[in-house]
Amino acid sequence: MSPGESKTVVMKFGGTSVAGAEQIKRAARRIVAARDAGNRAVAVLSARGKTTDELVAQALEISDRPDSREMDMLLSTGERISCALCAMAIHDMGHKAISLTGSQAGIVTDSSHTKARIIDVRADRIREALDEDRIVLVAGFQGVSTESHDVTTLGRGGSDTTAVALAAALGADVCEIYTDVAGVFSADPRIVPDARKLSVASYEETLEMAASGARVLQLRSVEYARNHGVRIHCRSSFEDGPGTLVVSEEEAEQEKVEQPFVTAVTHTDDEARVTLTGIRDEPGVAGEIFTALAEAGINVDVIIQNEPVGDDELADLSFTIDRSELLTATDAIAALGGVSQGVRTDDRIGKVSIIGAGMRSHPGVAAKVFEVLGAEEINIEMISTSPIKISCVISADRVPGAVQALHEAFGLGADAVRPEDPAGAEHRPTIPS
Ligand code: ADP
Ligand code: ASP
Ligand code: MG
Repeated sequence: MSPGESKTVVMKFGGTSVAGAEQIKRAARRIVAARDAGNRAVAVLSARGKTTDELVAQALEISDRPDSREMDMLLSTGERISCALCAMAIHDMGHKAISLTGSQAGIVTDSSHTKARIIDVRADRIREALDEDRIVLVAGFQGVSTESHDVTTLGRGGSDTTAVALAAALGADVCEIYTDVAGVFSADPRIVPDARKLSVASYEETLEMAASGARVLQLRSVEYARNHGVRIHCRSSFEDGPGTLVVSEEEAEQEKVEQPFVTAVTHTDDEARVTLTGIRDEPGVAGEIFTALAEAGINVDVIIQNEPVGDDELADLSFTIDRSELLTATDAIAALGGVSQGVRTDDRIGKVSIIGAGMRSHPGVAAKVFEVLGAEEINIEMISTSPIKISCVISADRVPGAVQALHEAFGLGADAVRPEDPAGAEHRPTIPS
């Protein structure tokens, strides 16, 4: 088959799937099998096992505020190792292969170090290598900024986004994401052993899941897939069989056998909360605070400000962020000089969320979530909602129990009998926004 007639397959292997020599060889066999089936094969690899965590720990041993440009120089090495080793394995199997860094592969990003966004994919070098009948291995999670010409990384889990971006650029039918679980589940299978594998999920639901902690697909990879119409097949690298197809709402509707109103329970246990006490209750103050945080590159999650009740007209404002950004956030607030009377932080914060496109038309879901957590004696510290999600901020150590209780209460388990709609047959969209 001439290269012009072949389909292009983009496969991504996560950290566990390339952890040891055996796993790298197994991934190499899968990639070669795709090539042998007549496809043009491109594989995106993550760093091996816990390499990225170890590199982060090494940086923090040296500095508690590591320079972000140098952080990217350091972190981008992990995926290069995997690609070079896998190329060697493929050579030994008698095929031609070439490994490329993100920059060599044409992944162009903005210059926001450690959380860069892909702005262009210039895949000519990949196409040339494919035309020369090579298998191409691309180091995930990294790119190059055209502005600074520096190496950038795409945020934790960013190899998913590299793969989706390449699938879009190369016109692949589907982007195959090989990982250590069999697909996207109704909850993290590590916490809920009877979680159910979703055979299909819409971009919208998967976006909410990724945004609220289901780290199986990086949020930006799902955004990119939705914006460019890339179908994702998330599946196990250790066993065969179908995983989860992440597709448009229309395709998901057609494929779904059943339409539960709640699809999944997600969680995070690595957040921190900052509370600013005694801030002036007047226009512009919140703008000042959140502009400073945005300029420091911090993603703020849930925000609560309460009305002042005392005569002093002073309010309290709380927000949650990634725990790893706590120091940067408190530095940014301190630099504002006396915007609040006090700053309190709690670095043991987590969040549980319940997600489902069907929630829009089912009242009573929020009430049930609060009741279930109440019955577990779990204190809800903050609440936020979207039309298809309810999130509760709770103490990090109560997260596993909360996930299990909600998963059970909403009948999401593999063998569960689905409970009745809590509001009966008449639906009104009453999820608070
Ligand atoms: P990879 O290294 O392959 O990218 P990740 O560790 O980033 O893998 O993501 C896979 C992990 O995501 C699983 O091992 C699982 O513990 C976790 N996870 C969290 N929520 C979910 C979910 N809803 N469905 C599947 N996996 C989930
Ligand atoms: N190695 C990076 C991480 O651990 C990127 C990835 O695996 O997708 O976050
Ligand atoms: Mg990942």
